[in-house]
Amino acid sequence: MKKSDRCGNCGAHLSKEHQFCIYCGTKAGEGAFEFNPEEGQILYGPPVIFDCKCEKCGKFWTSLGFGINRTKYCPVCGSEIDKTKVSLEEFKKRKDEDNI
Ligand SMILES: [Zn+2]
Ligand SMILES: [Zn+2]
Repeated sequence: MKKSDRCGNCGAHLSKEHQFCIYCGTKAGEGAFEFNPEEGQILYGPPVIFDCKCEKCGKFWTSLGFGINRTKYCPVCGSEIDKTKVSLEEFKKRKDEDNI
């Protein structure tokens, strides 16, 4: 089996460039999570794109979420991000656009 592209702790999908899980901060390749494909099928509402920025290293990235932004950690340096600062306004704006 090839190396998983999912977080070893929570099962979230990790981009190739990501060194840390953006949801739980686990380092890529660590942890013992086993992905259950059936659980991956459950979606809550339409996906929303969130803009995220790390205050520490300046990394900027977007994250797909379902209703809420679950992103908590920088994928590059693993620092916890301030998500209320990050995307609340952008989230509201995009939600309004979605409702048209
Ligand atoms: Zn994770
Ligand atoms: Zn960072």
